[in-house]
Amino acid sequence: MGRVPADRAEAVFEDFKAAYSLQQAIAESERCLYCYDAPCIQACPTTIDIPTFIRKIATGNVKGSAKTIFDSNILGMSCARVCPVEVLCVGDCVYNREDSPPIQIGKLQRFATDAAFEAGWRFYEAGADTGKKVACIGGGPASLAAAHRLRMYGHSVTIFEKRDVLGGLNTTGVAPYKMRADRSEDEVDWVLGIGGIEVRLGVSVPGDVSWAELESEFDAIFLGFGLGPDKFVGGEEGLSNVHGAVDFIEQFKLGAVDLSDVKRALVLGGGNTAIDAVRELRGLGVSDVRMVYRGSEAAMAGYQHEWKAAKVEGVRGVWHTSPVSYEVDEGRATGVRCVLTDESKKKVPGSEHVIDADLVLVAIGQAKIGELVAGLDGVQVEWGCVVTDASGATGRKGVYCGGDCRNGGKEVVNAAAEGRDSAEAIHAYLMGGQ
Ligand SMILES: Cc1cc2nc3c(=O)[nH]c(=O)nc-3n(C[C@H](O)[C@H](O)[C@H](O)COP(=O)(O)OP(=O)(O)OC[C@H]3O[C@@H](n4cnc5c(N)ncnc54)[C@H](O)[C@@H]3O)c2cc1C
Ligand code: SF4
Repeated sequence: MGRVPADRAEAVFEDFKAAYSLQQAIAESERCLYCYDAPCIQACPTTIDIPTFIRKIATGNVKGSAKTIFDSNILGMSCARVCPVEVLCVGDCVYNREDSPPIQIGKLQRFATDAAFEAGWRFYEAGADTGKKVACIGGGPASLAAAHRLRMYGHSVTIFEKRDVLGGLNTTGVAPYKMRADRSEDEVDWVLGIGGIEVRLGVSVPGDVSWAELESEFDAIFLGFGLGPDKFVGGEEGLSNVHGAVDFIEQFKLGAVDLSDVKRALVLGGGNTAIDAVRELRGLGVSDVRMVYRGSEAAMAGYQHEWKAAKVEGVRGVWHTSPVSYEVDEGRATGVRCVLTDESKKKVPGSEHVIDADLVLVAIGQAKIGELVAGLDGVQVEWGCVVTDASGATGRKGVYCGGDCRNGGKEVVNAAAEGRDSAEAIHAYLMGGQ
């Protein structure tokens, strides 16, 4: 697949969590108790057999360890880096109930999956050709996981991706101190390495190819088109220094950004994208970075462990403050007009004030784009998300869905699980002819 350019702004970021050496990995894996009920497995949306892959590292079987991971989650390499393990597997490790640090499952998973990538171990081959064709819409984690599993069963798969890169937000969105875009591309190559997955880049569905055309060419469709563009406060149009946070992150992950005249930056929002954005601006050299949130520090939606790291890096929070409009001079925002909010996030009358800024990133969520399926009768959309049953089946025969466009925006590991499980359901449908 096409590679992202080498001179990307994100290249300045170092790994936030350093990789384990062999000795460190063995020492950590030997601490695992191989619990009979292994709560860590239940906490993983892809239910990787965590104690088994850890045991294999301890016994020196790193190749077997990697296979155990990939059997459940073909995106195990990126998940090892980007998963919020603190609230998933590591957060549920039994050691948390004692006075001992939990097993560093993410770092061990990274050790095994990196070893597989570096050594070029390949574990999977395409199944015997079934003669069935499946279209995957979107080239992010959900579609990649679905496409790989479908190829294992021998179905022919075509991915339609509107951008000119694959990997979805794993390539264009996740913080570079967790994983850079080129590492996500390595994973895309690893997934496509099974062979026989056709990729059509720069093709938007249903804009460039209609649903009717897809249904006449393919036996089943997997919808994995994620979420839409950033939402805005209002009044940003034409302001050259106000950007949607996800859009801005994509710009510096895939190319260059000029922040030479930015001393004070504001990020509006209190979720994980807002926290990523403030840490990224600090890492890109902006000296005064503040996150403006309408609730309290304790009430923000972003993970507390990420916010703690942001504070250590010098970011400040502006709490109980809600943006109202922009102060503008010659097409640029010079500041954000805000009001204070009370404990229930209601605006406090007479509390208007301006916070000066050279750059503003708006991180108040992404639009949901379930309306894309309007031409597919029977596919239900609620609150902008595609409605499915537990298997991923929509209300239309042969149409399945997974990832952010179904769950409203969770994590890469949820998209990987829903893509994989939808592929299982599609296989049953295609072979059972239901
Ligand atoms: C800034 C940011 C940081 C994040 N950080 C993390 C993190 O650290 N850890 C974590 O686990 N999760 C993180 N997430 C969430 C995670 O990235 C998503 O949950 C995951 O990528 C969802 O996968 P997906 O395949 O459903 O959607 P996406 O990754 O969004 O992929 C969807 C793909 O579909 C394409 N597409 C859209 N519309 C069309 C169309 N009409 N036709 C064809 N193609 C289309 C898009 O271009 C995109 O490539 C982050 C999200 C954001 C926004
Ligand atoms: S809960 Fe912790 S100690 Fe128990 S199996 Fe999982 S990682 Fe090992």
